[in-house]
Amino acid sequence: MMSRDLSSDATDIQAAAAGEATRVDREALFPEAALAAARDRGVLGLLIGTEHGGLGGTPQDAMRLVGGVSQACASAGMVLCMHFAASAVIAAHGDDGTRHAVARGERLLTLAFSESGSRSHFWAPLSTARAQGADFVLDADKSFVTGARRADAYVWSSRPVASQDMSTLWLVPRDAPGLSVPGPFDGLGLRGNDSAPVRARNVVVPASARLGADGAGFDIMMGVVLPLFQLMNAAASLGIARAAHEGALSHVATAGFGTDGSRLRDLPTIRASLARAQIALDAGAALLADAADAAANGRPDAMLRVLQSKASASQVALDVTATAMRVCGGVAFRKDLPVERAFRDAQAASVMGPTTDVLHDFVGKAITGLPLFG
Ligand SMILES: Cc1cc2nc3c(=O)[nH]c(=O)nc-3n(C[C@H](O)[C@H](O)[C@H](O)COP(=O)(O)OP(=O)(O)OC[C@H]3O[C@@H](n4cnc5c(N)ncnc54)[C@H](O)[C@@H]3O)c2cc1C
Repeated sequence: MMSRDLSSDATDIQAAAAGEATRVDREALFPEAALAAARDRGVLGLLIGTEHGGLGGTPQDAMRLVGGVSQACASAGMVLCMHFAASAVIAAHGDDGTRHAVARGERLLTLAFSESGSRSHFWAPLSTARAQGADFVLDADKSFVTGARRADAYVWSSRPVASQDMSTLWLVPRDAPGLSVPGPFDGLGLRGNDSAPVRARNVVVPASARLGADGAGFDIMMGVVLPLFQLMNAAASLGIARAAHEGALSHVATAGFGTDGSRLRDLPTIRASLARAQIALDAGAALLADAADAAANGRPDAMLRVLQSKASASQVALDVTATAMRVCGGVAFRKDLPVERAFRDAQAASVMGPTTDVLHDFVGKAITGLPLFG
């Protein structure tokens, strides 16, 4: 079945996100208006199948939505990105009750993979799960969870209970006894996405909380989460870059020298800098579109393309936002333009796993014929 045309939903969510973006950043507020707009339009159920009341959307739908929202407010874009990544796991491995609840917008989800022990190597958690009668007990120190205090439940990784494989996934309600958020996280960028560490001490969950088989976590991460998350994260980085670039283009077209009436865009060095930024942005977008096509059509180069697209988009965002800062001069250094917010948000998006360094390692292994892991 064709998924519904999301363009008017995307426009409304972006408008809500744009309206609160400055306050969300300055005061590190959760992007309530954008999330309410997404919830009201059923978009939180985007990746849940229509048979469970969701929209039955595609990874490309999620990618476009996250990219557009991130251009307006990157914090809102990243909350949606984490929700969609987690809800794809529920669509594939959750129970029907949870699928319906996500489809109705009653559950905001997020990923709790990163740990202070495994660091960038999120696919190999150190946190534990052990059997206790018919239940399981989770202990962990999660280092970053987007929406830590606002999501209703976390898609959570641990070492397996008995399997020799790398990880097992669980759905853990945020209010489970034994979970705590040690403190707020005062970030440089993405300041409104409520990223914080989460600690688990003797958190008891029923067997039904397990997502997939014991030890299946790695395969689910690689098969369900990683491709989708990379595409959405790349789209978020390009959205952030576009926001800064458009801010810079508009500023150089209007800011002028009183001495002779010329504008900043009349300076060849400014134009050349912006031209390089435009080329980088368009090249990043073309690579991302090809990666999305590769993933949608099961092309053999899909994983390589997807890894490349996040590494490329993160670098594009760092470069294009730095260019925007430079060509806008002092007004960019102040908060007069949204450029400095994009500059900070781009830094945050680029360290989200897999980091650009890890992606370079993966891509290097793939093109030289080495296995990605091991
Ligand atoms: C705003 C924000 C929100 C986040 N939200 C979430 C979330 O919702 N859920 C979640 O699970 N995680 C989340 N993360 C965590 C994110 O995925 C991690 O920060 C990321 O995986 C990097 O881990 P680390 O910070 O421990 O870096 P470290 O592992 O300490 O990395 C330090 C440096 O070493 C480099 N490095 C590490 N390993 C390698 C390698 N093998 N090869 C080459 N270089 C390497 C890294 O690139 C980096 O430059 C979030 C992070 C941020 C900043």
